[in-house]
Amino acid sequence: MKSYLQSFAAVAVIAVSLYALSQEGRISEWAETGNMAATFGADTVRTKDLKEKYAEATTTIPQSRVRIFLMPGHEPDYGGAEYGSVKERDLNLALASYLRGFLEDDPRFEVVLGRGKDGWNPELAEYFVAKREEIQAWRNEQASMTERLVEEGELSFPKAGVSHQTVASDVALRLYGINKWLGESDFDFAIHIHINDYGSRKRNRPGELSGYAIYVPARQYSNSSASRYVAQALKDRFGELLSVSNAPREKEGIVEDRELVAVGRYNTAEVPSMLVEYGYIYEPQFQDPAVRDAVLREYAYQTYLGLKAFFSPDAEDNPRREVAILPYEWKKDLASAQTYRVDVLALQIALAWNGVYPPEGKTLYDCPISGLFGACTRSSVALFQKKYSIEGETGRVGERTRQVLNALFAE
Ligand SMILES: [Zn+2]
Repeated sequence: MKSYLQSFAAVAVIAVSLYALSQEGRISEWAETGNMAATFGADTVRTKDLKEKYAEATTTIPQSRVRIFLMPGHEPDYGGAEYGSVKERDLNLALASYLRGFLEDDPRFEVVLGRGKDGWNPELAEYFVAKREEIQAWRNEQASMTERLVEEGELSFPKAGVSHQTVASDVALRLYGINKWLGESDFDFAIHIHINDYGSRKRNRPGELSGYAIYVPARQYSNSSASRYVAQALKDRFGELLSVSNAPREKEGIVEDRELVAVGRYNTAEVPSMLVEYGYIYEPQFQDPAVRDAVLREYAYQTYLGLKAFFSPDAEDNPRREVAILPYEWKKDLASAQTYRVDVLALQIALAWNGVYPPEGKTLYDCPISGLFGACTRSSVALFQKKYSIEGETGRVGERTRQVLNALFAE
């Protein structure tokens, strides 16, 4: 963990120009200068506190459980990326629901979703209406306080100055409302679940960016430290199956942000929070309904394993299954094809676990785990066959290859 913090600091010292699309819908730009002198008060929650809470949680005392809030990004019926008929907000909800299912296997966690199939979580919906004025006033107060601290030199962001914005949109106001509500409701952790988009792409054409990124609060905010450690645990997990974003701003996988309301703009989040962009909406693995569902479930499972690894360093307590899709039994032969298939997805994941996917010289960026059997899978199958001395089916999965796959991964 220490080395992580050091490398984080080293990265921040390099001056880079950044563009960020904030949750309030504006494009902002600032230069990262690595200014770390200022703090915004003490940490609200320490990493140690979170781990202790988990260690001491018991099923007999419900209040002792670790309370996790999952926000499937965007409003129940609008907002978010769209690609063809694929809507980000639906994917976010599916992923969040899977994640809740996995987390609830562990009686030490209590999970609340921000919205479900029928709209907002009723408690939140009521809160937004009843506390509207209060949320707005509180948000303005936090904004002016941030501004004042910056002016007085008590607080410094990579680029001095805070935007003057006195009216927040309804969407943003609800996100501030969530931060306020989480702080008042004894939550321990919040994850906002999203799928990214690339603004400059042509309509209904894939963009050039792909991969995941985890947004965490700027280090000036009091919920930053614990958020960053949890983000690192997720990143450690994601590396096996998800490629890190190739967007210049996201290439470290973990991105500090001071403007995203979801992670605590103006220091409005007491609760450690992060926003995960699991990929870009036009990536192949999100296009076909059958494969997409298995992919979202797998991403949720990897997130769950990351959280478990953070809260419970005791390996004995952690699930032994490394991936959700395995064990898997392959019943049909497979070869290069243009259709998305779940058995190809399972094959790619099994090959990745076997160390032969992506094939040498390639990355997950070149060879996404998508359920499409193309050149990458062909090469990896050939490597697998060489490893297990399977002959006569090079680059495709015939009966002999299936036998070995099933012997290794079907139970
Ligand atoms: Zn989104």
